[in-house]
Amino acid sequence: MSPKTMIVMLGTGTPGPDPDRSGPATAIIANGTPYLIDFGPGVVRRAAAAFRQGVKAFGFGATKMRTAFLTHLHADHTIGLPDLILTPWIMGRRQPLAIFGPTGLQAMCDHVLKAWKLDIDNRVYGAEKLCAAGCKVNVTEIKPGLIYQDMNVSVTAFPVRHGDMTDAFGFKFRTPDKSIVISGDTAPTEAIVEHSGGCDVLIHEAYSQHTYDRVSGKWKAYRRKYHTSSIELARIATCAKPKLLLLYHRASPGGAALPNPEHVLLDELRRAYKGNVVVAHDLDVF
Ligand SMILES: [Zn+2]
Ligand SMILES: [Zn+2]
Repeated sequence: MSPKTMIVMLGTGTPGPDPDRSGPATAIIANGTPYLIDFGPGVVRRAAAAFRQGVKAFGFGATKMRTAFLTHLHADHTIGLPDLILTPWIMGRRQPLAIFGPTGLQAMCDHVLKAWKLDIDNRVYGAEKLCAAGCKVNVTEIKPGLIYQDMNVSVTAFPVRHGDMTDAFGFKFRTPDKSIVISGDTAPTEAIVEHSGGCDVLIHEAYSQHTYDRVSGKWKAYRRKYHTSSIELARIATCAKPKLLLLYHRASPGGAALPNPEHVLLDELRRAYKGNVVVAHDLDVF
């Protein structure tokens, strides 16, 4: 029997440098193989922490993290890219990394490899003699539809609404025992309802109405265009009826040092949505 699919939350944060919440990064482990979605700051250290807690699928030094999917090119979702390319390689990964994501990902990877060229050459041709193939990156720039399939998972990408970041995706993962949808960053969109209807787990971003009411007009307009409020998400989840709704990427107050407690967001959701909902924390496993 194949092992149960697991979701490992490697980073549940936003651009705000919250030491308790690394940048967005989520791993789905199917048949013992990890598939990463987004690589925010801290991604490799969080994978190492998960390994230490017993999630052996990442491998020591995250060397088994070989396939990744990117929702969009915002910095909070991509700052971990050099870390993901280089650290597991230095720790022993010998296979290229495969990454699937929006147009512009190839250029970003090319620039990262160029930026670290001196170090890479040093490690390949110097005393370490690391395997050059292990820091190669095979990039696939994606369009909506089925973007990946192997014996463990199939992955469908669908467009979401993230303001001026036009090339932004959500993903649906199907594994032998689970269907999992992850929103990435998005304002409310029917696409989430269409793809997550009756799924096992919907992982969705959200901000609380409480913090929305306290930010400036500029940040209110930004949030409406780029992100989803608790009330809007409650409507989406009521239509989609996921077995479990996982909240992540809880928006920072935006330009002001306002408190942003998770129970406020959760209370708002629970008042408007009767299904099963939890706030995810870094290193939670579902
Ligand atoms: Zn984000
Ligand atoms: Zn974003």
